[in-house]
Formats: sequence, structure tokens, C-alpha cells
Amino acid sequence: MTNFPPPGAGDPSTARGSHPDATADGAAAAPTAPSDPTDLADPTVPTLDDVVDTGDPVIDTSNDGLDDGINRCPKCGSTDVQLRATAGELICLFCRHQWSEARLDETIENGDLTTLTGTTIGSGASDIDASVDVVMTMKCSGCGAEVVVNTAENMTARCHWCRHVLTVNEQIPNGAVPDAVLPFTITHGDAVERIRAFAGKRKLFADRAFAAEFKPENIVGVYMPYMVVDSNASADITGKGEIQTRKYTRGSGDNEETVYDADRYEVRRHVDFTVDDLTVESSAERANFDSSANTNNIINTILPFDTENAVKWNASYLTGYTSEKRDQDVAHLVPEVEDQLLSIARSQVEPSVKKFDRGVCWEVEKLDVHGTRWVSMYLPVWLYSYYHEVKGKGMVHYIAVNGRTGEVMGSVPVSHKRLLAAAVSVGGVIDAGVIALMVATS
Ligand SMILES: [Zn+2]
Ligand SMILES: [Zn+2]
Repeated sequence: MTNFPPPGAGDPSTARGSHPDATADGAAAAPTAPSDPTDLADPTVPTLDDVVDTGDPVIDTSNDGLDDGINRCPKCGSTDVQLRATAGELICLFCRHQWSEARLDETIENGDLTTLTGTTIGSGASDIDASVDVVMTMKCSGCGAEVVVNTAENMTARCHWCRHVLTVNEQIPNGAVPDAVLPFTITHGDAVERIRAFAGKRKLFADRAFAAEFKPENIVGVYMPYMVVDSNASADITGKGEIQTRKYTRGSGDNEETVYDADRYEVRRHVDFTVDDLTVESSAERANFDSSANTNNIINTILPFDTENAVKWNASYLTGYTSEKRDQDVAHLVPEVEDQLLSIARSQVEPSVKKFDRGVCWEVEKLDVHGTRWVSMYLPVWLYSYYHEVKGKGMVHYIAVNGRTGEVMGSVPVSHKRLLAAAVSVGGVIDAGVIALMVATS
């Protein structure tokens, strides 16, 4: 599995026989009046909803090597196990033995995506059962005490009697245990430096309270819930394309105007494509892009993650970090995935319509999803958040660091007065991109 860059970033997916519809090509077609495009405008476009049902095949991704309760070091048996971010591996704090869980890619059949049909779901991506409590009581196998774990916040707890670490490894149907986890490899110290540098560059314009209260030490490592989706799809898109044939001026003086003549073509394209590791948010709150109340969308700007390196679930990867529980099922995320597949289809056909120098206006788009495979995954993000109030209206600002690549993005509350003053005092020599970002997010 490889990460899928955003649409428009080159030729990301493996297109098969893209735009083979030569007869529909504008060069071949005479510039006639367009034919009725409704033959492709099927209002009953099949959606993924049609194929999602309870009988979908499920890939069992549970980690057989682990039992609920105590997670022991394979070498010495200690339960003091946690992630060592510099290595991206688990480490036993007692004997310093280091190891990794198997990559999920190696344990599930990945095969040729062009043969993917129907809907396949990882056992950790199964529908959430609302009746399953997030609070779990676990029996300590060390001393027999009963220890409570709130799976909404933690996946491990230390037994208050014998100090064994208890871990939730079983895939409980409450969305708290995903199919796979991508461990942090950016350390807390590294994230602090990156956030300090990011905020430092913007300090000149930042709201005074933000600058004064800025404490990068407050950043926390959070595993965010995502669905990672492989897809096999086709798309038919039709529209009108124009090629300029003449450009001339009419009239004179103030009445002079430029006139363009163009031939108009009906353009149809068909593309078959596969997509590997499309990454979509699976927490409703995080996917809420209401930019007047929060700046959640920032987290999506630090994509992509190297999801192909995600490993099988082991709760010890989360020790010392927090996590956010998934609350969206596959069916909820189908529209978002279809949206993304359509924009990928558009970017796939783009190179074939360059000859239409006045552009193509797509009118009808039909997506046909042949198959999808869904796995749920925790992705690592360092977060610094800051609650900022302007005229009684609260806004949460975030600076986020990709826990694998170190990519930083964030919003810093801006003082417009200071922004203007700075622009004047340095004679306008300011990175326009920086201003645009900050104004847009302030
Ligand atoms: Zn050990
Ligand atoms: Zn105990």
C-alpha cells in the first residue's frame, strides 16, 4: 500500500486504460451541436450504500498473540512496555528489549486492486455497537484486582495494587480498537521544537495573549481515528470543451473589444482506476469543518501519513499518549470517499483534455465503485491547542505536527492591528503566503 497524494499532484493512482474513449475525443469529433448527454446522466447512479450490508466479508485483524489484560515483554515478561518513538518500536522498560508488531499490510491479503469487488471491512472497522460501554472492567491477572479502563481516553491502566500494566487488546465493538496503528516516530522534544519554530515565525503578528501564554511544552500526542480505504472504480464524465479558433478586436477607442471565436465539442471520458490508501477522518467531531468554531481542518493539511507502515494493534503503542475514539461507521463515510474518488477521476482525465485551450466544463459525472476495502487506523498527531476569545466568541486554535513526517500546520490567532503595523514597518516585504494563511485562519 502506498499513500495517495491529493488529487492534482501528478499521476497518483494506477489508471488502467484511462480515457480510452477515442471516438468521444474532441479531435475526432466534428464541432457539431452536442448530442443529448442525458444518455449518460443516469439518475440512479449506484452508490456504495448499495453494496454495504451486514453480510460484507470481514478481514480478521485481531492480534492473536495478545490477550486482554497483561501485555508482556516477549523476552523478560515485564508489563512495563511502551513506544520508543525514536525507533517507532515497542520497548520493555525493564530489559530494554525492542520489537515491533507485524505490519498490517503483511497480514492481510493485499492483492491486485483491479480485482477488488464488493465491500471488505477489517474487523476493527466494523460498525460501532452503541450499547457497548466505553468503560471496561478488567481483571488483573497479576493479583486479581478489578481495574477500570475508560476506553474513550485510555487503552492501558496500571493496576493500583501490583502495578502491572493492563492493556485493552481485544477488538471491542465500541470503536476504541482499530485494525492498525501507525506509531509515533517524531518525539515530543522534536515536536516541541517544530511548534516553537512555527509559532516563532508568526509571533510578530500573533495576538498578544497567545504569544504570552504560548507554552510548547503543553503539546500532547494524540492518535486520531481514520479509515484507510482501497478502491477499484470507474467513472464516466461528460461535458463541453472549447478550442479557440480566432481572436480579434472589434470597434475602436473606448468601444474596442476583444472577441474570441471557439469551436465547442462534446467531451466524454471514461476512466478505470484503483486507489490505494485513501485516508478519511472517522471522528465526526474532527470532520466538522465549521471554521468559525474550530480549526480542525488543519489536521487534514498535515496528511499524508505512510499508512503502509501501520502495524497490528497493540495497546502498548498508546502508553503515554491519548487517543480519540472512532464514532463513524463505513456507511457514514461512503459519501466522503465517493467525493474523493470523483475528484481523482477528474484529475485522471485532465491530461487528455489539454487541447481544449478554453477549458472543459464537466456536466455529468457517473461513478461506478466496483470494490472497496476498509481498515480503521490510528494516526499519530502532536497537538498544541489554544482557546482564543474575540468579542465573546470562542475559537480553538491548533498547531498540529504529523507524528511521522514532522510536517507542521496550524492557526495562530492574529492581531490585525499588529499585522498591519508590521506590514507597514517592514515596507511590505512580507511573505504573502504567511499573511494569507494567518488572515484566513484568524
Ligand atoms: Zn523485557
Ligand atoms: Zn494487579
